[in-house]
Order: sequence, then C-alpha cells, then structure tokens
Amino acid sequence: MSLLEIRVLGDPVLRQETTPVPQVTPELQRLIDDMFETMHAAKGVGLAAPQVGRTERVAVVEVDGAQHVLINPEIVEREGTLKWEEGCLSIPEIYGDVTRSARVVVRATGRDGQPVEIEGTELLGVCMQHEIDHLHGKLFIDHLSFLKRQKALAQWEKEKVNYPGLVRVVSPDDPDDDPEHDDERM
Ligand SMILES: [Zn+2]
Repeated sequence: MSLLEIRVLGDPVLRQETTPVPQVTPELQRLIDDMFETMHAAKGVGLAAPQVGRTERVAVVEVDGAQHVLINPEIVEREGTLKWEEGCLSIPEIYGDVTRSARVVVRATGRDGQPVEIEGTELLGVCMQHEIDHLHGKLFIDHLSFLKRQKALAQWEKEKVNYPGLVRVVSPDDPDDDPEHDDERM
C-alpha cells in the first residue's frame, strides 16, 4: 500500500464529475486500499477518489470501526433533515454546519464487486452524503449560505499557502493536532 497525495480546494479535479466503474479490478482494489491508508494518515472518516486526483466513481468511509467501500454509490432513500458540522480533507482547517438528510440508504458495489446496501444516520449518513457529493464535483462549502461560504473562502485563502501546488502530503506519523474535529473530516 502507499499513501496518496490529497488534492486541496482549487484543484480542478475536485470539481469534475467522476466516471462510473465498469468492473472491479485488482488495480481498483489497490486504489481503495491506498485510499483507506491515506484517510487514516489524514485522520479522516471518509475519502473520495477526486480528493486523491482520480476520476473513478469510488469513495471509502470508516465510521465506528466499520469500513465501507462505495463504488458507483447512489442514494435510494432519504428521510428527514439534520445539521452536522463538517470539514473536508481537501479544505483543511475549515468547518461549517451543513443540513443533510437525517437518514439515507445507499446502494453501491463493494470492494469484492458484490452489491451492497448501507443505511446510515448521524455521522455515517452525513459522511456518505459528503462523499457522494465529491463524486459529482460538489463540496460541503457549496451547501453553506452565501455569507458563510464567503467567510470560509476568505479563511481558506490564508490556509491555502500551506499547500503549494494545491497538494497536501500526509504521513502516518502526523499528530492529530485537532482531536475536537475527529468526526468531521471527510
Ligand atoms: Zn470532503
């Protein structure tokens, strides 16, 4: 396995539509394994392919110790609303409250190529919605009100200088310097 570079806000790949995966290949499984490893090093709970510069329609999620692989995911049921503070591994240090569906059912293909259906509420539900957004070029800041988005973007302008080339390099030895946001980086 190897760690991948995380692309940060400003890289056009984050705004691209992904391509459905026709078949689960060993190469795709390797990408999935690398994405889990990268997500762990970055102290996140979810990661989508565009965040590592890829265009395959695949994301990984890990909530409460349960790992989920979402290949070609679709939300087939949604219910209610909730507000959750979200952050994004591609927009480090920026957080904001997003209104999402309170419960979703996601249909996808798993790492073994078999169909899966995952029901999620709270963090799992929020994280799956956040990752599926990524697969369609959408970011959590798009859900903020105009003023809050302007504020987040102004903050990001200052933060961005820490990521030359719009690339974020993570290491398994990176300390978790902001444990308060552990359940929000995705
Ligand atoms: Zn994200």
